[in-house]
Amino acid sequence: MYDELQEIAISSGITLFGVGYIDDLRPHFDALPLEQTEGLSYGISIGVRLSDPVLDGIKTGPTHHYLHHYRMVNMLLDQTALRLSLAIQGRGYNAMPIPASQIIDWQRQIAHLSHKMIALRAGMGWIGRNNLLVHPEYGSRIRLATILTDMPLRVDEPLNDGSCGDCRLCIEACPVSAIKETHKEWDKEACLERLRSYTKTHNIGQYICGLCVKVCRPKGLKG
Ligand code: SF4
Ligand code: SF4
Repeated sequence: MYDELQEIAISSGITLFGVGYIDDLRPHFDALPLEQTEGLSYGISIGVRLSDPVLDGIKTGPTHHYLHHYRMVNMLLDQTALRLSLAIQGRGYNAMPIPASQIIDWQRQIAHLSHKMIALRAGMGWIGRNNLLVHPEYGSRIRLATILTDMPLRVDEPLNDGSCGDCRLCIEACPVSAIKETHKEWDKEACLERLRSYTKTHNIGQYICGLCVKVCRPKGLKG
């Protein structure tokens, strides 16, 4: 079924598709009770590449163009996650589509689970200094969603050689110095505070920024 599901995803417009065995991650899902994910040991990660010209329009913070694009990409991810879930259910297995961007706890900015951790297992990239998934070709210029399932699937190998190397562009780009040498030092509070302020200063009704996403494109840097 791996190939069939991948074909559904790609024909829906999805850029990236991967599968990881994630049973050990289930106890760490922030807003999903363990009993609700019982048996859902496989995580399908799907990713959509963001538009380079839209991101390039970001200069001092989020633009309305980026906000719209962000929402449309999330919608495509959610629709494709539903399509994949229905295909899995049609084969007699369980599937749980996880929204691309749905905050359960606004104060702490917590979602059902971390899409990037599933994508990491599915071999789609590494965790960069900006604390986002970095794809070897598209950098952090992607958005992700997840489908959890009990359908036994072939799994992808996590990337072993992915790293930011000597790149530090996101450290330079962050206006509040939230990004440090390692992703474990990323200052969530400083970042959230800036995102909160953008909702007022840039009149954006969503917690987005785009600055550290925009600068992260490893392949482009090498070229
Ligand atoms: S989203 Fe913006 S404020 Fe947050 S870490 Fe990235 S550049 Fe800094
Ligand atoms: S901009 Fe450079 S340092 Fe920052 S996450 Fe991307 S590759 Fe890593």
